[in-house]
Amino acid sequence: MTAQLIDGNALAARIRAEVAQRAGALRARGLTPGLAVILVGDDPASAVYVRHKVKDCEDAGIRSLLERYPATMAEADLLARVRALNEESTVHGILVQMPLPRHIDPLKVIEALSPGKDVDGFHVHSAGALMVGRPGFKACTPYGCMRLIESTAQPVRGKHAVVIGRSNTVGKPMALMLLQANATVTICHSATADLAAHTRQADIVVAAVGRRDTLRAEMVKPGAIVIDVGMNRDDAGKLCGDVDFAAVREVAGWITPVPGGVGPMTRAMLLVNTLEAAERAAA
Ligand code: NAP
Repeated sequence: MTAQLIDGNALAARIRAEVAQRAGALRARGLTPGLAVILVGDDPASAVYVRHKVKDCEDAGIRSLLERYPATMAEADLLARVRALNEESTVHGILVQMPLPRHIDPLKVIEALSPGKDVDGFHVHSAGALMVGRPGFKACTPYGCMRLIESTAQPVRGKHAVVIGRSNTVGKPMALMLLQANATVTICHSATADLAAHTRQADIVVAAVGRRDTLRAEMVKPGAIVIDVGMNRDDAGKLCGDVDFAAVREVAGWITPVPGGVGPMTRAMLLVNTLEAAERAAA
């Protein structure tokens, strides 16, 4: 059996089009959604991510405000800038691109954000809202993964989902979102004794590790939904995920490719969160 491909590019394009339409409706009422993007330092990968986010905003009719600062920026100055943007009424979402230079504590910066503008969904307020099932911004990557899983039209309720990885930005919120959707959830991590024993039981596997070939064909239950969050390089320097894609697609029922799976959805969900922040401001 060859798995059906879950096309993240196509789904993200549909979501972006819907965001553009809703942003247009807001503009017609005199409110232009706005996202402030802060980039500190000159990490080349971060610069590329930020460029994509700015372009996505432009295409969707969301005003973006890109602020670039040198790697030497003092933590106190960044915190002051975030607090000033919290007060800026034309800015509905604030994104501080990670990673930050080592002398800046990322948690302090995230906590300085107004929870109402935390469109990355990283603030403890957003994490807590997810934990207790209250409305709040959902972290973009697991939010995008949920939409990819939903696009298979397979019920999540009652299914066994295994999340590999327990980071605050991907693994943990992913597990909570699956739990909220009534899956039975197992979280695996670097101290898990027998990863394959867990993944073989899974109807849904989300791999968010950052190590290629973490999920191999013999570890997958036939027909499972496999979502690959990982972003790694193979020996030829090509982008690849955590899943041995060629082999796993022969066992799984549905699978996301890398590239073209989770990546575009992460970008799309940032637009959704920003739009929703603006819609709340307009309400
Ligand atoms: P992270 O903070 O490094 O977390 C990795 C997790 O994997 C940790 O919880 C770690 O366990 C676990 N792990 C490591 N080795 C393992 C093993 N052998 N077996 C089971 N679990 C293991 O990374 P992250 O930020 O969550 O990101 C994960 C991957 O997703 C990275 O490749 C990242 O680039 C990618 N990513 C992609 C997108 C996208 O939009 N496509 C967005 C975000 C992240 P411990 O907690 O025990 O250390």
